[in-house]
Amino acid sequence: LADRRRSSMFWGQPVKLEDHESQPQSPSPGQPGVGIESCIGNTPLIEISSLSRATGRIILAKAEFLNGAGNSPKDRVALNMIREAEKAGLLVPHRGDTIYEGTVGSTGISLATLARARGYKAHICMPDDQALEKSDLLHHLGAAVERVPVAPITSPDHFVNLARRRAEAHTADSTDASRGFFANQFESEANWHAHLETTGPEIWKQTGGELDAFVAGAGTGGTVTGVARYLKLEAEASAVQVVLADPQGSGLYNKIKHGVMYSNTEREGTRRRQQVDSMVEGIGITRVTENFEAGRDLVDDAVKVTDEQACRMARWLVENDGIFVGSSSSVNCVAAVVTAMGLPEGSRVVTVLCDSGTRHLSKFWKKIKEMGLEENEASDLFHELGISA
Ligand code: PMP
Repeated sequence: LADRRRSSMFWGQPVKLEDHESQPQSPSPGQPGVGIESCIGNTPLIEISSLSRATGRIILAKAEFLNGAGNSPKDRVALNMIREAEKAGLLVPHRGDTIYEGTVGSTGISLATLARARGYKAHICMPDDQALEKSDLLHHLGAAVERVPVAPITSPDHFVNLARRRAEAHTADSTDASRGFFANQFESEANWHAHLETTGPEIWKQTGGELDAFVAGAGTGGTVTGVARYLKLEAEASAVQVVLADPQGSGLYNKIKHGVMYSNTEREGTRRRQQVDSMVEGIGITRVTENFEAGRDLVDDAVKVTDEQACRMARWLVENDGIFVGSSSSVNCVAAVVTAMGLPEGSRVVTVLCDSGTRHLSKFWKKIKEMGLEENEASDLFHELGISA
């Protein structure tokens, strides 16, 4: 199979941008788009040449940081959640409605941007251990922001529960027609449906259906589930391996590998932790969300990635490819390399670059600097992974 691919027209050739199929939110080719929403979707698929060279496989990445509203895959999700809520009459533009969401940041940024564009307010609840860049940006977008202490999901003060409560209180206390809408990305079907309807088909088209594995982390699980469902159920590409990239301290790795939700490497089997013990933002979780559950059976394997590996990969990508990304993208790339090495030479692995490093200067990139990874030490990662790069 790999040999056939090596000689195929797709060998090492990322599909040209003009070949992309327009998704519903995109303008017709050659026509001006209407508003910021027309900048969502149809992101390029790029080959990460240094990783292809190091592995002898083709490593491709969906450049999701190029979604042009909130600059992450959450643009697709936010747009779909808003559209579905409008269809159901839960949101009405310019009625004074507020969108409430619990988020580590990316979904909030996408919702706040689109809220502005569609005549809503946004109120975002997020944990206070996330990079300040994200809450600063939310303020500039005009959202109300609550940074709250990290709490277990069972606590009423967990950021998700707080957002739900705020939405309910808005509606209950409203003295005009305005309503509060809790977007609920962790449990809402509109989340994975956005990836089923856009991200999955785009990857299929951009690879010409020639891919051996899809590798991605899960925060809500929307990306993994939506893309896996498209590839395996819609495109009927059952041979494509779907691999979860999971940061240290997350519970999902063990859920996939052993069917049990332990969440911390050192304490496996002893205690179920409430928080993900990692500096990686956006992926890794200690509970099974509806969005993850909807695709769990389609996930074939999982790769656990340490914070240190993620830092080294981020540095490597800048040094070798000029690609400057955040922590979840780095975890995805480490897991893509590990997955690729388990496949025959020439295999094609697709992963996701979720957001830019500019959103992670004060935490992830600060840590990289503190680790002394400013200069060319990133290749140690490949020795660790058993690759001579
Ligand atoms: N990367 C980043 C930066 C994110 O914010 C998120 C979402 N929390 C993800 C990746 C994971 O996406 P999903 O929610 O679809 O699992």
